[in-house]
Amino acid sequence: MKKISLLLYISTCLFILSCKKSSNNNTDDQQPPTTVDYKPNTTVYGTNNYVKFIVGDLNSPIILASPHDGTIIPDGWPQRDNPDAVIVRDLYVTALTTEISNALYSRTGLRPHMIVNDVARSRMEPNRALEEAYHKTEAANQLWREYHAFLKGAQEMVQKNVGKGLFLDMHGHGHTVPRVEVGYIVSKANLNGTDAGLNSLATTSSIYHLSTISAYPFSQLIRGDYAFGTLLENEGIRAVPSKQDPKPNNDDYFNGGYCTLTYGSKTSGAVSAIQLETHGPNLRNNPTERKASGAKIADAIIKYMQSHYGLFLGK
Ligand SMILES: [Zn+2]
Repeated sequence: MKKISLLLYISTCLFILSCKKSSNNNTDDQQPPTTVDYKPNTTVYGTNNYVKFIVGDLNSPIILASPHDGTIIPDGWPQRDNPDAVIVRDLYVTALTTEISNALYSRTGLRPHMIVNDVARSRMEPNRALEEAYHKTEAANQLWREYHAFLKGAQEMVQKNVGKGLFLDMHGHGHTVPRVEVGYIVSKANLNGTDAGLNSLATTSSIYHLSTISAYPFSQLIRGDYAFGTLLENEGIRAVPSKQDPKPNNDDYFNGGYCTLTYGSKTSGAVSAIQLETHGPNLRNNPTERKASGAKIADAIIKYMQSHYGLFLGK
């Protein structure tokens, strides 16, 4: 009897200690919880509905995001005026991304996850580190955190429920050459170099995990038969790098920004990321073009997932 009471006493003490420990941890840690279970096929909004996470199907391996097409200018939020702050809007990219989402859903039966920022880039910049976003208000910083919590939540959902996936960060450029610039965090100088040089760069790219499961060498993932740019070109959309247009040469080219770097597989994880910088003419400048381009980009995504992930087979 005595023994049982002592055991009970010790285990009660341990229980109280462990509760104290966890409650202390909670008090010290002011960060929001890192893992949130988002309900599939719902839309979750941030403060004032400024950012949203359109949660896709549980088994979708695809995440889409549109960070730079917002138009809302909240009261009392001054314009970002640091000389390094870019404030131009990526016109119609959210509408194009919606077309891609709809086309993916109709072709695969799985709705992708989609994260949208509706506040003007002149007020909040999601595609830079917070310390380089040069926001003018703490409210903008908070909105940035909400946007990134959604991206992280989508990444965790894919990781947990599918085990591997692809994040496409959608943008729009106004460069002279009307072609999609496909960004993998590989520099223009390296893309202008040899295939042998490219083959040594997989570990520093945003598709590192993809390169470990694909049958193709890294240079082929950049500009071979089943590179993302090549699959876009096969759909009739100009793209660099691709088999058809392997190097940016001296033309303007974006190789991927903060979100592609952060939510790709460069450092860890099984979700790879590609930045798609789309051109306007014949692609996203009017509703008819967006519907057609959205379907073509969705077809390229499906072929990419079939070629490298073994997903969407039979679609
Ligand atoms: Zn952009």
